Amino acid sequence: MKITRIETIPVRIPLKPERRMISALGRHDVSDFLLVRVETADGREGWGEATVTPRWSGETCRGAQALIDDVLTPAVIGCPADDILELDRRLDAFAVGNWFAKSAIEMACWDIQGRAAGKPVYELLGGACRPLTIRSRFSLGAYDPARARRRAAELVAAGFTTIKVKVGVNPVEDVERVRIVREVIGPDIALTIDANGGWDVETAIRCIRELEVCQLTLVEQPIPPGDYTGLARVRRETGATILADESCFDLVHAQELIRHACCDAISLYPGKNGGIRKACEIATLAGEHGIACSIGSNLEWDIGTAAMAHFIVAMPNMHVELYPGDLLGPDYHEVSIARNPLDIQGPFTTLTAAPGLGIEVDRDVVERHRIA
Ligand SMILES: [Mg+2]
Repeated sequence: MKITRIETIPVRIPLKPERRMISALGRHDVSDFLLVRVETADGREGWGEATVTPRWSGETCRGAQALIDDVLTPAVIGCPADDILELDRRLDAFAVGNWFAKSAIEMACWDIQGRAAGKPVYELLGGACRPLTIRSRFSLGAYDPARARRRAAELVAAGFTTIKVKVGVNPVEDVERVRIVREVIGPDIALTIDANGGWDVETAIRCIRELEVCQLTLVEQPIPPGDYTGLARVRRETGATILADESCFDLVHAQELIRHACCDAISLYPGKNGGIRKACEIATLAGEHGIACSIGSNLEWDIGTAAMAHFIVAMPNMHVELYPGDLLGPDYHEVSIARNPLDIQGPFTTLTAAPGLGIEVDRDVVERHRIA
């Protein structure tokens, strides 16, 4: 099962108009993905996806392609696709960072292993510890009041029981938007906010206090990543339940979050964390320190979302029942790459027990959307 070739294919997919996102990181109207196809000496193949956005991880489609073609592929040629520890060792020895590019290769290797064994990836990770149907929250963009009001009502009608509102853009408008959404959804729907690091410490403390009346169940990444002391202060002074997202790409970040007691929960997903194995490692460490984890998203497409779903289903500390996360990426996009897409109905995403990641890639769709 030695790796013999890695093919990289950049594609561009528009978001459905009503799903276009606005956050502290800016607008998200189209998604660039780098698809990765790994081949092995015994004729097997597996697919991975790098969900690249420069404002999130610093990676781009062309950059990830160059890194994989010029640096990572030569590093892993000859590595057994079923030796993920060795694969990670080689990937990390030849390039620092570049989590999404590395995760694309890693998830493709899990796909190969699962297909070879005739088992879904979650079985390889220790077996399902929760049902294959997962409930997500909905992430409502930093829209103007009229659009936020309209969208919030639609989401309640669609069956969402947790709504996340993007903030961190303008403190006055942020507070107004969250209050409007609470008014529209009533008292029984859980409401969370995500600032994507767009507030400073003082603004975060002030806004969270002004939003006490809205009974937020979770405050996600109120301040920029890296300031663990500041995040601990926000948590201490507001009493808010803090979810760290941009603050945690790797195991060292998780150790810092734990050491500074600055969060109640950590948002993880294979792309952001450099692969399924590394995401599992962080989830396990967090669990040992009493910190729950949930699933985050960079608006993955079919393959990336499948990798996330397998990770959730297999990891006991992925408490998506307590803190619903984002597993709806394919539903944001106008086109699916999969002949057998994940079943997404309103807030519910259902994974199948198909071997590997369970996604049959439609090569024609890939070619139609290839970036020239
Ligand atoms: Mg987030």
